[in-house]
Amino acid sequence: MPTKKLYWEDPYQREFDAVVGSIDGNRVILNQTCFYAKSGGQVGDTGELNGARVADTIKDDAGNAVHILEEPNFKLGDVIHGKIDWERRYKIMKLHSAAHIVYNFMSKVYPGAKIASSGIVDERKDKQDYILPDGWDKEKLVIVEKYANDFIAADKEIKCWTDADGIRHWLVAGVPDMHCGGIHVKRTSEIGRVSVKRGKKPGAGKERIEISLIE
Ligand SMILES: [Zn+2]
Repeated sequence: MPTKKLYWEDPYQREFDAVVGSIDGNRVILNQTCFYAKSGGQVGDTGELNGARVADTIKDDAGNAVHILEEPNFKLGDVIHGKIDWERRYKIMKLHSAAHIVYNFMSKVYPGAKIASSGIVDERKDKQDYILPDGWDKEKLVIVEKYANDFIAADKEIKCWTDADGIRHWLVAGVPDMHCGGIHVKRTSEIGRVSVKRGKKPGAGKERIEISLIE
C-alpha cells in the first residue's frame, strides 16, 4: 500500500508519528506522512524525521513518498517522529491556491488563454506559462491581479476532496472545478494579497506569469 497521505486529511498537520517501511541509502519510505512528495508542479516538503534533516520529498513509481535524508539515524521498523518545515509549506499552500484563482481570471481576461506546460510552485513563487491567442497586454494583467485579490479578500471556502475514481478535486464557489492533488488552504483569505507579474519570456508565443505573496 502506498504511503498514507496525512496532508489530504489535514493539510495543517505539521507533526506525525510513523513506522519506517524501507530505507535505501538516504531514501526513506514511511507507512504514513505529512511530507508532500513533489508532483503536479508543487515542490516536495522539507523538514525532519527524528531530528535528521529531510532535504526533499519525491514520489516513486508506486506512489510512495520518498523522503531524501541527509543522514538517517533510525532503522527499518522503527517508529519515528516527523516534522515538516511548516512556514515554507504554508507559503506553498497559499501560492498554490492563489495559482488556481489567477488561472481562472487569466482565462477570463485574456480570451482563449491556455496553459502551455505544467507550472511550478515553491515557497517563493508560482510560475505558469501561458499561450495568449490575442497576444500580450500589460493592462490586462493589472486587471487579473485586481480580480484575484478581490476574490481572495472575499474569504471564500476552498474545498478539496477525492472522488470515487481517486481523482482529487479543488473547488471554490465562482470558479470551475479543477483537478489537483496539491495542498491548499481552506479559505481564500489565508492567502492575503498577491502580486501577479510577467516573468522572463519562456519562448516564442508564450508568456510566463509569476505570482508571489505580498507580506
Ligand atoms: Zn493545483
